[in-house]
Amino acid sequence: GAGAAQRERVVPAQEWLQKWESGRTGFHKEQGHPLLREYLDVLLSGRSGLRIFFPLCGKAVEMKWLAAMGHRVVGVEISERALREFFAEQGLPCREEPVAGVAGAKLLQSLDGTISLYCCSIYDVTSAIVGKFDGVWDRGALVAVNPCDRQRYASLMISLMEKNSSYLLVTVLYDPNKYKGPPFYVPECEIRGLFG
Ligand code: SAH
Repeated sequence: GAGAAQRERVVPAQEWLQKWESGRTGFHKEQGHPLLREYLDVLLSGRSGLRIFFPLCGKAVEMKWLAAMGHRVVGVEISERALREFFAEQGLPCREEPVAGVAGAKLLQSLDGTISLYCCSIYDVTSAIVGKFDGVWDRGALVAVNPCDRQRYASLMISLMEKNSSYLLVTVLYDPNKYKGPPFYVPECEIRGLFG
């Protein structure tokens, strides 16, 4: 069936780190994602001062946009290089501190405190560490998660959402028998099953 060829595929963290080290980051969008502009009102629904989550954030430039609009942004990313590039390329100085309770994790934060990026695996965070969110921008996140970890990932996302939060999810549509991913093909029926 659809996706059977991808079910068993596992991309080790090391491979993602190597992509960043060697600049194989074709997924990065220098101008930001047009779908975030298009659906921004759905994410915010007129509210201000929100906490917005960027799981598997890379160096997504939209983090700076949202912070500039007065929201607080939290991201999680395993590659420290990606996060350093974010702050450097956006011209934002940052400070660094360890994360209590997560060995080896670091928090890199803009000096005004509006952008907090955790360098660790997404599976190491809980709402006790990162808090809960009014909005989630999931682009290149669910589709980058190993297929065997999707359920765990979705349950974690649900646990990080406030009541009345909005979740914008970008997926990709293609024949999973012709390309091994990531990004993986996540059919709509599976998304319904994962998020209810
Ligand atoms: N959302 C970003 C990046 C998408 S690529 C964008 O839209 O540009 C997926 C990112 O997830 C990569 O930067 C990779 O380093 C990171 N990643 C992969 N597995 C992860 C994990 N378990 N925890 C945190 N980050 C992870």
